[in-house]
Amino acid sequence: MGFDRIEIPDEGEIVESDGEDVEVPDAPIIPYITGDGIGVDVSPAARTVLDAAAEETGREIHWTEVYAGERAEEEYGELLPDETLEAIDYFNVALKGPLTTPVGEGFRSLNVAIRKELDLYSNVRPVYYIDGVPSPVNSPEDVDMVCFREATEDVYSGIEWEQGSEGMQRVREFLNEEMGEDVPEDAGIGVKPISEFKTKRLVRKAIKYAIDRGRDSVTLVHKGNIMKFTEGAFKDWGYELAEEEFPEETITEDELWEEYDGERPEGKVVVKDRIADNMLQQLLTRTDQYGVMAMPNLNGDYLSDAAAGQVGGLGIAPGANIGDGRAVFEPVHGSAPKYAGEDKVNPTALILTGRIMFEYFEWFDAAELVRDAVEETIQDRTVTYDIHRQIEGGEKVSTSRFAELVAEKIRS
Ligand code: NAP
Repeated sequence: MGFDRIEIPDEGEIVESDGEDVEVPDAPIIPYITGDGIGVDVSPAARTVLDAAAEETGREIHWTEVYAGERAEEEYGELLPDETLEAIDYFNVALKGPLTTPVGEGFRSLNVAIRKELDLYSNVRPVYYIDGVPSPVNSPEDVDMVCFREATEDVYSGIEWEQGSEGMQRVREFLNEEMGEDVPEDAGIGVKPISEFKTKRLVRKAIKYAIDRGRDSVTLVHKGNIMKFTEGAFKDWGYELAEEEFPEETITEDELWEEYDGERPEGKVVVKDRIADNMLQQLLTRTDQYGVMAMPNLNGDYLSDAAAGQVGGLGIAPGANIGDGRAVFEPVHGSAPKYAGEDKVNPTALILTGRIMFEYFEWFDAAELVRDAVEETIQDRTVTYDIHRQIEGGEKVSTSRFAELVAEKIRS
């Protein structure tokens, strides 16, 4: 495959995909998007650490830069060139830094556009405590959950009309005159589609993950008490999927109490559901009862950030966007433009994002090395400004120095 501006390394092999799973060589070619703002700081830092972990476990990553955001604007004169999407589609994987959401016409968000174009429908965010990171709660070590957020529909579909626009007036007319509704004339209108197919493929990924990783439960988080045909249907389709496709591996919470007196049988994943507002408080009060969460887009957005806050916030929160046989890994945080190029911010989120990529590759040994080395470096209290300002003492280090320290631990 030829590209105009993307330079393919002479060495390295493609991560192969059969449209469901991937097969990863020991010397994969991995495209990366540097990202806007602090992307110039965290992207090289993360690659330093990931290279060290790959090398220590007998592998070698061949990185190739692909462009989006400001760097794409410079290279191609556009924010999201087709070539970038084609390259990710071809190599089946990418490590992405944060991108600034363009203000004005064009893209609603580059990040959303990438997820949509490549149909990366599950946004996956593991949230766990790293010893030494300051936390606002009493028992942050109880947090060990993986959020699966549907990433292509719900109110993020972009089907909305501005107050007073022609579209808004036409939709309002239809709703009021033909459907008997009473939408005020000064309203903006948005549409929230949630479909059976897209719900089931997300819940399937969450349940498979729980089974493969020996997790106790999958919780469907919804607001079905109010939005019955979208959020309520999400819950119903989730249970249906579990019963249809995983009858041996799963039981419902009702069955757990009716047939097993609340004692989870060995090897079974309990499928349960919670209403979103209740879930947000249970996250704090009954933290250890939740392992894997499957959520529509908006609930997932709120809940995964709230969970990340419990273990220390955005500077350390990793994420992934996974579709069928391809994935783009990216941190939860944005491009924090005010710190761009200062070699100051915390690269942990992108480093741990790389760790999820290693787990996705089934490079579990390399993933463990990364996690342990990050934890040890933070425990040594050699930390970036964001953590340093929350602890007593410790040494404040730059982005690149933090990455060097982590890489040194991996090599030692
Ligand atoms: P942000 O870039 O995440 O930054 C908000 C604040 O979070 C920063 O000012 C900083 O707090 C802290 N922070 C973020 N990353 C950090 C890091 N690596 N280390 C330490 N602290 C970190 O959010 P934003 O300012 O709302 O968004 C900026 C742009 O990024 C927007 O255009 C937004 O749309 C975009 N964005 C992109 C993505 C993505 O690419 N996936 C995600 C979210 C937002 P302090 O100043 O308090 O230290």
